[in-house]
Amino acid sequence: LSPVPSDIDISRAQTPKPISQLAQEIGLLPEELEAYGNTKAKVHLSLLNRLQHQPDGKYVLVAGITPTPLGEGKSTVTIGLVQALSAHLKLNSFACLRQPSQGPTFGVKGGAAGGGYAQVIPMEEFNLHLTGDIHAITAANNLVAAAIDARIFHEATQSDKALYSRLVPSINSVRRFSPIQLVRLQRLGINKSDPSDLTPQEVSAFVRLDLDPEKVTWQRVVDTNDRFLRKITVGQANTEKGHARQTQFDIAVASEIMAILALTDGLADMRARLGRMVVGSSRNNQPITADDLGVTGALAVLMKDAIKPTLMQTLEGTPVFVHAGPFANIAHGNSSVLADKLALKLVGEEGYVVTEAGFGADIGMEKFFNIKCRTSGLRPDVVVLVATVRALKMHGGGPNNMQLVADGCSNLKKQIQIARLFGVPVVVALNVFKTDTQAEIDLVCHIAEASGASAAVPCHHWSRGGRGSVELAHAVKEVASQGSHFQFLYNLQDPIVEKIRMIAQKVYGADDIELSPDAQAKIDYYNQQGFSALPICMAKTHLSLSHMPEKKGVPTGFILPIRDVRASIGAGFIFPLVGTLKVGLPILANQWYPEEFEEPV
Ligand code: ADP
Repeated sequence: LSPVPSDIDISRAQTPKPISQLAQEIGLLPEELEAYGNTKAKVHLSLLNRLQHQPDGKYVLVAGITPTPLGEGKSTVTIGLVQALSAHLKLNSFACLRQPSQGPTFGVKGGAAGGGYAQVIPMEEFNLHLTGDIHAITAANNLVAAAIDARIFHEATQSDKALYSRLVPSINSVRRFSPIQLVRLQRLGINKSDPSDLTPQEVSAFVRLDLDPEKVTWQRVVDTNDRFLRKITVGQANTEKGHARQTQFDIAVASEIMAILALTDGLADMRARLGRMVVGSSRNNQPITADDLGVTGALAVLMKDAIKPTLMQTLEGTPVFVHAGPFANIAHGNSSVLADKLALKLVGEEGYVVTEAGFGADIGMEKFFNIKCRTSGLRPDVVVLVATVRALKMHGGGPNNMQLVADGCSNLKKQIQIARLFGVPVVVALNVFKTDTQAEIDLVCHIAEASGASAAVPCHHWSRGGRGSVELAHAVKEVASQGSHFQFLYNLQDPIVEKIRMIAQKVYGADDIELSPDAQAKIDYYNQQGFSALPICMAKTHLSLSHMPEKKGVPTGFILPIRDVRASIGAGFIFPLVGTLKVGLPILANQWYPEEFEEPV
């Protein structure tokens, strides 16, 4: 229709087909599906076994240029592209998207179900609750937080003997160590499996983690930008006997458990990763893990359904997996490895899986390659780089001038080069807005092709649905058939500082990096603990290639400041904090609650 109705009106005007019908169309067996109502269903991981001999389809990553705060249309391009591939080119295809956090959904950006005639439906289901994965993550995360404070309290207030009875309870007068406790004993050098054999010193070493309240790095989380929880004091009830401490809430999607959900390849691996999560350190600087707290089994059971991707559909009835949703600036910004793996099997050799990485190619795509692909072993065939004239004008310095559009293309050119650095061919998708002129569209496509893109095409999926992306679908098919020469940017064995420097210089264009004393001290500690051979997950603003959000285009001549460095040992990455980027609960512009969100009619 013209004018294009609102996203919610378009979403509600289309009746989704029953999810069981979609599942049957894509070859799922009834027992592989767990329906949550009629429009969404979890898919069992047993499918991976059943299809293990099926060759994978082509793997397409959608990334973007440095965006405006409104987003440049990566989700809509992803959805428009699969609508075009499936419904118009008659090729099997799957979109894999992140589940949005409620934070941005109720903020300036809104939901992430796409928009116009390129959407996942029903939009409200997609944007809120879905199948409860973020709630499960929140529950698991906060269980760890509860266990930390309870443990500190009990160790401070109880004798070794009382702690021992609590941790190794006597059942029918028999005490037994759990498998996790046996691992802890081994780590302490105590090779005994009968609880009655431990000496008093060994009991003391076993029961006391001696977690330093000042060195707890684990935070509570909530999936709302509840700004008044950014700093809190816990333990103020009389029952806590003065064991109060200051702590904070983070946004749920930044939890390490979210990153684990996105990177894991199955239940056993998830459990192992959950157990390795470091929650703080002891008074003598030893890392303390979820395994040490004895909560891993509980975490795994809380996450047992969340690990299954959720099947939904586009407006044109083509399949979509929605699974995991780490932010791209403060986390690794990609949907799950499991969803991509399942989808690649389901589409088969001739099919296409289109997955999306958050924010600009310098952020989500770099992490997709260096973290997600390294973990999954999957290799992309082509990158679709989304650009808009409005963002290019912003990079050029202002509106309504062809020269400014041309100048702003410097950012597009740089982002193309970043993708080429990894050896993957690029198709530029210019997401057309109704205000764009033909001259602007032609100019951007011309510059993109002259800058190393294999193809550059205008896309009209937002106003026309899949048929508006047919040209893009043909370009992707053509370029994907030519093969890519994927390579990582750095080796895991390189020193942490070198890996950070490599990303800063090669991807962001910095002259060098500058480590604060805190950052250097943390790196020394991680080296000493044997955590150095991990990939790097930079926490950097998405609004500039540099650390300075106001610097548009391609900033040069800057030194990238590394304020602090953290580690997510369970997820498996080192996590440098760049410049002044805040982690914790984001305070988004225009964030207020929540009448603006329409109620269902
Ligand atoms: P990203 O995934 O890059 O953050 P989205 O695809 O979510 O961006 O799009 C951001 C917003 O912009 C959505 O509300 C979407 O409906 C809107 N949008 C995207 N493309 C267009 C377009 N071509 N014309 C008008 N609005 C658009």
